[in-house]
Amino acid sequence: MSGAIIAIDGPAGSGKSTVARTLADALGWSFLDTGAMYRAVTVEALSRGVDVNDAGALAQLATSVVLTTTPRVTVNGRDVEDEIRTETINRAVSAVAANADVRRAMVRRQREWAAAQSAGTVVEGRDITTVVFPHATLKIYLTASLEERSRRRGDEDPASVARRDEVDSTRETSPLRRAEGATVIDTTGRTVEEVVGEIIECLNTQRSR
Ligand code: C5P
Repeated sequence: MSGAIIAIDGPAGSGKSTVARTLADALGWSFLDTGAMYRAVTVEALSRGVDVNDAGALAQLATSVVLTTTPRVTVNGRDVEDEIRTETINRAVSAVAANADVRRAMVRRQREWAAAQSAGTVVEGRDITTVVFPHATLKIYLTASLEERSRRRGDEDPASVARRDEVDSTRETSPLRRAEGATVIDTTGRTVEEVVGEIIECLNTQRSR
């Protein structure tokens, strides 16, 4: 189903990546984890000694960097799949993602990526339903209790999860929020399969309209 897009947003630990990946597999569609892109830019900035508060230097880096997310996350040819999930990156990524020029560069790449896919796509992040693909075939907002989200992010300190949510939802550019027309699904206490099943039902309902 070329051109169809399921856009998924939600806070850290709401289940976005696992749900989006499983959903894409079930549909035979492509999957894009946009958080991995912001994380990869952060890895590159830190390894080059760029201050995450230096807006100009970050913008320059985000526009020039070569990024891939599948099959592995790489930046300028270097595999950073493991490094992007470290505590150092958890701490720095929200500051990088708050930079308007960085966001512009990432949004452009995300749209180009989706346009190049032959099948439908599942894209997840924080601004996918609001900014990147506001006219997506289906818009989903995943949420869960902070307790459950922290538990799922077993390797990330709950205070760090809460702090990232705070920065992501209060920043000036493209804050995390529920888009108009998005279906809200609370994943607390639910399995991945249940949530994926509910999204597929929403998709079928949408298509039969
Ligand atoms: O989804 P994940 O937790 O890997 O995202 C890491 C960070 O990247 C988020 O906390 C947020 O600051 C940023 N992000 C964003 N917009 C997106 C995806 C991620 O600002 N579309």
